[in-house]
This record gives sequence, structure tokens and C-alpha cells, in this order.
Amino acid sequence: MGDQTDPNGTPQTGKSDPLVIIKDLVKEFPVHGGAFQRQVATVNAVSGVNLTIQRGETVGLVGESGCGKTTLGRTLVRLLEPTSGTIIFDGQDITHLKGSELKPFRKRAQIIFQDPYTSLDPRSQVGTSISEGLKLHGVKSKDERHQRVTEMLELVGLQASHAGRYPHEFSGGQRQRIGLARALILKPDLVVADEPVSALDVSVQAQVLNLLKELQSELDLTVLFIAHNLAVVEHVSDRVAVMYLGRIAEITSRERLYEHPLHPYTEALLSAIPIPDPDRPRNRQILQGEVPSPINPPPGCFFNPRCPIAQDGLCNVDVPKLLPGDDGPDHLAACHLRTGDSSQLTVNSSQAQ
Ligand code: SF4
Repeated sequence: MGDQTDPNGTPQTGKSDPLVIIKDLVKEFPVHGGAFQRQVATVNAVSGVNLTIQRGETVGLVGESGCGKTTLGRTLVRLLEPTSGTIIFDGQDITHLKGSELKPFRKRAQIIFQDPYTSLDPRSQVGTSISEGLKLHGVKSKDERHQRVTEMLELVGLQASHAGRYPHEFSGGQRQRIGLARALILKPDLVVADEPVSALDVSVQAQVLNLLKELQSELDLTVLFIAHNLAVVEHVSDRVAVMYLGRIAEITSRERLYEHPLHPYTEALLSAIPIPDPDRPRNRQILQGEVPSPINPPPGCFFNPRCPIAQDGLCNVDVPKLLPGDDGPDHLAACHLRTGDSSQLTVNSSQAQ
């Protein structure tokens, strides 16, 4: 069963040309306190994540606020220094590159932020903001920069004349188009889209998602699409990874995740998606309690204090590994009762009824 799963624990889904391989990635933040500002605790934001992203693939990364998804995205593009683990990008280990060594990678890996307004300089015309990356990466000719900004503005559905305007003159959706233009101007291979539509109205969200999907296929981008809502990633992702308290809880193709979720946390997230049909019955699962603190995560499965089927003596003791469940090697979950040996799978089916 495991022979179709790569050594990284990430299933192969037809494609086998990884652009990104993340191995055992850990990102911790020290908490300082007291009169001498000594380290008094550690925030375990990302706790040993393994993830492979194939070239041209879009992986949706979903979880509640504080689950570590944004930290994972920012660590991947090296805006944050990993605590341990490895990040391989296009065959090169970029985990600990510094300064000028990072420059070629920075050109090839870009990030789109949730609120482009805060990431745009309010005193700069948007054309200047978009062309900054070109300048930094050695495009000296002003005419060439102008030409490329014009092309990029048109590609994201804006007009060349918009280059001379300031960020406050645009709507939220237009600003996110500017954010896209700025991220794509250097023709990157990898884009981390960090909740790019969560600050937008629902009607505008669909436009930006459609645009991102078109650009992804037109420019052959590899995308890590971060969202807190499974409904949003459904339309853009080839595979979806569900994250909980710094760990991957489940990962598989979009179709399988939505049709046959394995992890109880994924089930709860799916049950929260609104169904636009009043006659269709729904089985909303309300998760009890809050996400535990990443400063003091619970022992065993991190989800055990909130899990409706947790087993005392197992779930609060052993950390579940990301393993295949009952529908093939491309569908992995970290749950003692939904993966692994058949006796536990039997327990799972009887409990799920
Ligand atoms: Fe629930 Fe246990 Fe599975 Fe964790 S390992 S999701 S607590 S059943």
C-alpha cells in the first residue's frame, strides 16, 4: 500500500515532479517574560509537517485560525526561519540559505497576502509598487519595467492607466488584483496565497478565485492556497491538506476529501459549509471547546480534547501518524481510529454510525 506514497508521507496523485518537498518542518516561537525577559515558553506553531507539492499543482491548506497554516506558508517562502526540518525547492535545499544566497529563490517564490492594502505603500503609485521586484532583481530599463507592469495589470483584469493611481483609489477586489500583479511580475514558479480572498465580499471572492485559477493554468504556477474555510479551497485545489494545531490532520485529492473525509476534524469543517438548498438535510457538527494553546498542546492526538470519538488511553497518549485509511494510499489521515490496522478501522465504522 505504501509503495505509491512518497518517502515524505505525501501521496502521489498522478503527477510525480515535485517542486517543493517539506520534511519534518518545525517552527517554534519563543515567548519571553519576567523582569529579565527570559524565555518562559515556546509556541509550537508548526510541529513536524511533511508535504510535497508537485509542479503545476495547487494544494489547499485549511484550518482554523491559529492552526499554523500561515506560519507554514511564510516559512516555506523563507519569510520566517525554520526551527528544524528541511525545505527542498526544485531540488535545492533552501532551508538555511541567507542573504544573497536566497535571492534567486525569492524571485521564484512569491506570496500574496490576505489584505493587500496593508502590504502596499499608500504613498506609492501602484505601478511603482508592482515594479519594485523587477528593480530589485536587476531589470534596469525603465521602459521594460513599464512595459511589464502594463502587461501584468492587463493580465489581472486592470488597465494600464491604473499604474498611476494610489492604493486608496481601488476597491478591495481591485487591490487583491494588484497584489496578484505584484506577486506574479517576476514570473515565479511558486505562489503562496495566504487567505487571498478572506477580506473580500463573497461576490468579489468568486471573481478573484476565478482569476487566480486562470492565471495558475496560464502561467503554470504551483500554488499553496491557504484558507480557513473548506468551501473556498474546493474550487481552486487539486489536493487539500487539513491542518490542526501545527500538524497535518488529513491530505488527499479534493474529490476524496469532500466525498469521503477520514479525519473527524475534517468532517466537522465540512459540516460547517453552508448548503444553498433549504430542503437538503444537514448534519452540522459543532466542535466543543476552543483550539488548545500551541504553547501547551495536549498529549497524544492534538485533536483529542474536542474529538467526538476519542478513545481514552489511546488518543490522549499516542501521537497518530499520517497514514492511509480504507480508500487507498493517496488518502492519508492522522487518526488512530480511521487509519492503520483493520481492527481500529472496524472500531471506527461502528462508532461513526
Ligand atoms: Fe479523534 Fe483519536 Fe482520531 Fe485524534 S486519533 S482524531 S482523538 S479518534
